[in-house]
Amino acid sequence: MRSDLVHLVDELAERRALPVEGYQALVEGADSELRGLAARRAFEERRRVFGDAVYVRGLIEISSHCRNDCLYCGLRRSNASCQRYRLSTEKIMACVDEGYELGFRTFVLQGGEDLAFDDERLCDVVARIKRAHGDCAVTLSVGERPREVYQAFHDAGADRFLLRHETADPAHYARLHPAEMSHAHRLACLRDLREVGFVIGCGFMVGSPHQTARNIALDLKFIEGLRPEMCGIGPFVPHHATPFAHEPAGSADLTCFLLSLLRLQNPNVLLPATTALATVEGDGRERGMLAGANVVMPNLSPADAREKYLLYDGKASSGSEAAEGLADLRRRMAGIGLRVVVDRGDPPHATAAGTAI
Ligand code: SF4
Repeated sequence: MRSDLVHLVDELAERRALPVEGYQALVEGADSELRGLAARRAFEERRRVFGDAVYVRGLIEISSHCRNDCLYCGLRRSNASCQRYRLSTEKIMACVDEGYELGFRTFVLQGGEDLAFDDERLCDVVARIKRAHGDCAVTLSVGERPREVYQAFHDAGADRFLLRHETADPAHYARLHPAEMSHAHRLACLRDLREVGFVIGCGFMVGSPHQTARNIALDLKFIEGLRPEMCGIGPFVPHHATPFAHEPAGSADLTCFLLSLLRLQNPNVLLPATTALATVEGDGRERGMLAGANVVMPNLSPADAREKYLLYDGKASSGSEAAEGLADLRRRMAGIGLRVVVDRGDPPHATAAGTAI
């Protein structure tokens, strides 16, 4: 294990920050021993802040329609083979009620940028969830919208918003997205969401096509500056009907290492072990948790919708990925000394807002 890299891990744990070059050196030089060291330190940090708690979020995939054409995504509009659906308000409420019975206290409504799910319809859904289950948090993950629409979502009662920044490098962003999508606009949306009052989450794919170690270092630096309350990272997994069909999947080892660095950077961050991580490695959830993650998002969507919401090939949606598999998830988490709790799982304190965007 290189001592200069051990020093960088120490420095990150102490200062909660590194220069971009430091992050890059870690990404390029880490071996399994260093990854193990970072994971142990990150696990200690998550234990210090969150104890043995694992927060669960009930994921409801509300629409597979999308106006965008992101090159990596199976829901992109030019994928004619994608089966499109849109859940009715009644269906969404049925998923929420079922999830509540199972013990979920956060619901994540996720979908493509489907303008048929306009602000009025989505605000109505959010308000109904809050009326029915006032002790629950609602997270939205429905892409880029005008600031006034974000405001309306927040006014309706939505608490949190996930919007992956995808990459901190505009040139890399341009290789993953069609020309009409703008990196600057994505960052402006994150700024709007924070100003409107949302608890925010950003994130990126590990091993996305054309990604370099420098790109990842810039992502870590960006997140350090933004200090989001939530951060979603998972390995890139190719989808057969996209331009990236033949690109290799991202690495679970590198994803877990980056989870550890993010935990050391911000001990309070809500950090999921993502479905993509569980898709590339059967024990991805456990490995993610042992590397510093503290959130899991089992799928509450109706069974027929799950197979249509195919962001990438082989996406796991059964077993402990499924809400009805909660007992299995509990067992797996207990196996590594952790406990799935019935809790909204809010950020521990309001984090100081960063200024990097
Ligand atoms: S990543 Fe999101 S915005 Fe892009 S095509 Fe897929 S669902 Fe649409």
